[in-house]
Amino acid sequence: MKANAPRQPVLFLGHGSPMNAIEDNGFTRALARLGRRLAKPEAVLCVSAHWLTKGTWVTGMARPRTIHDFGGFPEALYQVRYPAPGSPRVAALVRETVGEDAVRVDDEEWGLDHGAWSVLRHVFPNADVPVVQLGIDFAAPARRHFELGEKLRPLREKGVLILGSGNIVHNLGRISFDENAAPAGWAVEFDAWVQERAAARDFEPLLGDLSRAPSGRLAVPTPDHYDPLLYVLGASDARDALRVECEGIQNGSISMRSLSFGT
Ligand code: ZN
Repeated sequence: MKANAPRQPVLFLGHGSPMNAIEDNGFTRALARLGRRLAKPEAVLCVSAHWLTKGTWVTGMARPRTIHDFGGFPEALYQVRYPAPGSPRVAALVRETVGEDAVRVDDEEWGLDHGAWSVLRHVFPNADVPVVQLGIDFAAPARRHFELGEKLRPLREKGVLILGSGNIVHNLGRISFDENAAPAGWAVEFDAWVQERAAARDFEPLLGDLSRAPSGRLAVPTPDHYDPLLYVLGASDARDALRVECEGIQNGSISMRSLSFGT
């Protein structure tokens, strides 16, 4: 990695419906604006809600495939390819940084899932920034995800942009098929609570039992879409200004809040 690479920000991006990959709406335009503001990183390390693993893994293939990990969407979505290269070098750097015993390399199985490419194609439309993914150890508690984020923080000095892709509120059981449905009150409540904690760098409640948080039980019925936020908070530090890149509730029960630290 270049020694003089500028210190990279950390991003948490709400991805919501896979259709956002090919739509032009307020959320996708916010991602495009963010992309134009960023200094081009050496690589992206993406923690996606859609790669849940046993233990922690990093993708190490040079040419990751585009994975269409969803069903029942229009053909146009299955035609999308995001041909960004991978980076075996960054995969090795991730292992060096957090400990070789703590992370295994996947050379053939995964690739880029829609948690990664549905947002990256708006932020870096030319697909010219190498991308590696980090799998979320699904059995690990919230605190371990946050601590792993802390360990990854030095990568920012080496030109690696750490990106969490998920949704702060994600309840598919309560979803409306109308993208513009009125937001559920509980979704708004939890989303605002997380924003306040994040802005105050009061992370402890975000790592605790969310069923005790306001509307936490409904907002985070499973941790998969919430966990990427914990990596991002861990990789941020007190020097970073927090900026809300976009906010809003899509489909009644999905928070599209996207945050940047240190842009
Ligand atoms: Zn998702």
